[in-house]
Amino acid sequence: MTITAARLYPGKKIDLHVHVGTFGGWANVSLTEEELVKSMEDYNVVKSAVYFMDNELVRKAVQKYPEQLVGCYWPNPHEETAAEKVRVALKEWGFRGIKLHPLFQAFLPNDDIVHPIMEEAKRAGVPVLIHTGHSPFSLPWSVGELAENFPDVKIVMLHMGDGHGLYIQAAINTAKRMDNLYLETSAMPMGTKIKEAIDVVGKDRVMYGSDFPFHNPAVEIARATAVNLSEEEFELYFYRNAKNLLGL
Ligand SMILES: [Zn+2]
Repeated sequence: MTITAARLYPGKKIDLHVHVGTFGGWANVSLTEEELVKSMEDYNVVKSAVYFMDNELVRKAVQKYPEQLVGCYWPNPHEETAAEKVRVALKEWGFRGIKLHPLFQAFLPNDDIVHPIMEEAKRAGVPVLIHTGHSPFSLPWSVGELAENFPDVKIVMLHMGDGHGLYIQAAINTAKRMDNLYLETSAMPMGTKIKEAIDVVGKDRVMYGSDFPFHNPAVEIARATAVNLSEEEFELYFYRNAKNLLGL
């Protein structure tokens, strides 16, 4: 039997969603910075935005590979010093974004404890990347409430609703209403919705991310490659939108 690999979009890419470190428990996945950089070479990924709960580990990875990796700080909003830690990472570590995981750390996106972190994002002019797609804490409508309160902060819905059709649709509908909302497509199974999001929300607000090592870049790139996009839309989706968002 001969197996022929589908050709993946060959152009350069920025991956907006990568983790280094080990996620134990049910997830049982891990990735080292060496493995990440090797994979980036394989898929023509020139930069990856990296985050993990152990922010020191991310800081070390970025120091080791400053050309390839961009750090995003992952605070726990329940900690009183969360905003202060974010400020230090943005000012002194050279981090360029903030990641929030409302499901994992059990808070609503628009909870009061998130607002001081949003003020830091606003002050520094960096994007806030938020996990979406799981009830009760990570639903697109709730991210919409936060986006409404902070119109000056660019907010990315990671997974744009993830595997649930109604949440995917809600991510598109909510982003359509608010200019400061952006969509990242990792783990979202429907290629048709990538195309729909680009048409409905805008070609400047939909972008590639893999969520490696939870998901494999080969699969994530293949899904988008199979979508009927123009050359310009591919370039924006895989590269230029994330470049602009991260200020690279
Ligand atoms: Zn992730």
